[in-house]
Amino acid sequence: MPMPEPFSGNKRKVGNPVSNLVTYFSLLKSVKWQFAGALACGLIYAATSGFGLPFILDRILPKLYGPNELTPAQLFMAVAQIPLIFAFRAAGGFSNQYLVEYCGTRLLAQLRQQVFDKLQVLHLAFFAKRDSGDLLSRTMNDTDIVQKAVMKVANDLIVQPVILISALGFVTWMAFNRAGIGLILLFLLMVPACVFPIRIMARKLHQRARQMQKQMGAVTECVRENLGATREIRAFNLEARESSRFKHFLNEFLRYHLKVEKYLKAISPSIEFISSVGIALAIFYGRLAGITFLDIGPLIVALYFAYDPIKKLGVVNGEIRKGLASIERVEEILKEPVLIMDRPDAQAVTEARGHIEFVDVSFSYGDGPVLKEINCTLAENCVYALVGPSGAGKSTFASLLPRFYEPTSGRVALDGRDIRDIKISDLRRQIAFVPQDPVLFDDTIVENILVSRPDATHQEAEEAARRAFAHPFIVAFEAGYTTVVGDRGARLSGGQLQRIALARAFLKNAPILILDEATSALDSESEEVIQRALEYLVKDKTVLIIAHRFSTIHMAERILVFQNGRIVAMGSHDELLNSCDVYTQLYRKQMLP
Ligand code: ADP
Repeated sequence: MPMPEPFSGNKRKVGNPVSNLVTYFSLLKSVKWQFAGALACGLIYAATSGFGLPFILDRILPKLYGPNELTPAQLFMAVAQIPLIFAFRAAGGFSNQYLVEYCGTRLLAQLRQQVFDKLQVLHLAFFAKRDSGDLLSRTMNDTDIVQKAVMKVANDLIVQPVILISALGFVTWMAFNRAGIGLILLFLLMVPACVFPIRIMARKLHQRARQMQKQMGAVTECVRENLGATREIRAFNLEARESSRFKHFLNEFLRYHLKVEKYLKAISPSIEFISSVGIALAIFYGRLAGITFLDIGPLIVALYFAYDPIKKLGVVNGEIRKGLASIERVEEILKEPVLIMDRPDAQAVTEARGHIEFVDVSFSYGDGPVLKEINCTLAENCVYALVGPSGAGKSTFASLLPRFYEPTSGRVALDGRDIRDIKISDLRRQIAFVPQDPVLFDDTIVENILVSRPDATHQEAEEAARRAFAHPFIVAFEAGYTTVVGDRGARLSGGQLQRIALARAFLKNAPILILDEATSALDSESEEVIQRALEYLVKDKTVLIIAHRFSTIHMAERILVFQNGRIVAMGSHDELLNSCDVYTQLYRKQMLP
C-alpha cells in the first residue's frame, strides 16, 4: 500500500518542534476551505479582542460619560457599538472553534487510517518485538494527541500573533499619543521574562509526555492481555493479581499525566504573574507621567490583551512538546521501513505449478541463525512432512515461502523464479495456509470461510465446508452459515475451528498447501474427520506439513528432518527409520508408549 509523501522517509531524528508538526499540516489539504474559514473567523475574533475591547473603553465610554449632552439617538448609536463588537467577537470565536474541531476530526481520521494502513503492510518481525496493546494505544491515543497539537499550532500560531499585533498596535498608538515611548520599552522588557518560564516548562513537559504515553501503552496492553485470557485468569485465580497489575500501570500513567498537566497548567499563571508586574509598572509609570484615569484604563486592557497571546503561545509551545512525544511514537510506525514489498519489476503469476527450491537459505530473527544454509528441492504435487525437535526451525522454514519473513541470505524459488520477483499478492494466492491455531474474525461462518477467496459464492463456501466435514456442525447452529462466531471464533471448539480453517483451504484450492499441525490434542472424533478431510485436501498439491506430532506423517511421501536449523535427512518413512538416528528417536518417542 503506498504511503503518502510526508511519511515515506526513514528519518527518525526529532528536529525543530514546529517543523516536525508542519509535516502533518499536509493532512489538512482535504479540508483546506474549512480550515481557511477557521483562520478567517479566528482573525475576526483576534482583531475584535485585541483592538475591539480597548476601543470600547477608549472611544465609546468617554463619549457616554463625557461633558457633551447626547440625544437618545446618539446615545443609542454609541451603546449599540458594544454589542456589535461583541457579536463579531462571538461569531468569530464560535465559528473558529467549531471549524477547527471539524478539521481536527478529519485530520485525526486520516492519521489513524495511515497508521492502520501501515500496520497492514509491516513485516511480521515488527510485531514480534512490540506489544499489541502499545500499538493499539499509538493508533488511538497518540494520534489523538498529535491531532490536538497540530490543530492548536495551526490555529494559534496564526491567530495569537494577530491578537498580539493588534493589541500592540493599540498600545503603541496610545503610548505615542498619550503616555510616551517609555511604556513600549517597558512592555518589550517584560517579553523575555515571559519566554523564560515557557522554555523551562516545555523542556520538562516533553520528557514527561513521552513517559506518560509509554505508560498509556502499558495500560492498554494490560487490558488487551487480560481480555484475551479471561479463562486462564479464572482457572488460575489470577483476578487479584490482574487487578493489582492494572492498578500499578494506571498509577504510573496517572503520575506522569499529572506531571504533564502540572507543567502545562503552570505556563499560563507564570506569564499572568509576569504580565501583572508589567501592568503594575505601566500604572506606576503612567501615574508619574501624569496620565489620566480615562487614558490609563484602555491602556491596561490593551496591555492585558498584548500579554494574553504570549500566554497562549506559551501554552501552545507546551502542547507542541506534548504532541511531539506522541509524534515520535506514531512515527515509529509510519516511518518503519516496509521490508517486504513488491520489487518494481515484480511479475504476475496466475497459476503456479508448485515446484519449490531453497538455495543456500539462512535466516535469523535477530539473535543468532535459526536456519543455516538450507538447500532443498520440493517437487510439485508431492506431500512433505517437516519433522524435528521443537525449535529446530520447521515453522520458520515454511514461513519463508509466503514471504512472512525474508531470508538473511540465499533465495527461495517457485517454479524456477525467485519469489522476490513475484508480486506478493500473487505469490500468496498460490499458497493456502492452515495455521496451528486458526483465528476467525468476529463475523458469520460463511464470511469467515470466504476470506480465503472473497469472490467465491456462498454455494462454493458451503461446498468447501462439506469437504472439510464442517457442514454438519455448521447447520446444527440455529443460524447455520450466518452464525456469528464471536471474538476470534470463541463460540467454536478447537476441532470446529480447525475444520473452518480447512474449509478456507478447500475454497482457496491453491497449488501449494502449508499445514501447521495443531499442537493441542483434538478429541478423537475431530482428529479422525480432520485426517479424512486432509487426505482429500492434499491431493494434487505441493504440501508442507509441519508435523509437531506424528499423526499426519503417513500422508507424506517424503519427510524432511530438521535439527538445529539444518535439514539433516530427507527420505521416506522406511528409509529414514533405517538410516537417520534423529528421526528414529523422534518416532520412537512419539509412537511407542
Ligand atoms: P519449530 O517449528 O521447529 O518448533 P520454529 O521455526 O518455530 O521451530 O523456531 C525456530 C527458532 O526460532 C526457535 O529457537 C524459536 O525460539 C525461534 N523463533 C521462532 N519464532 C520467532 C520469532 N517470531 N522471533 C524470534 N525468534 C523466534
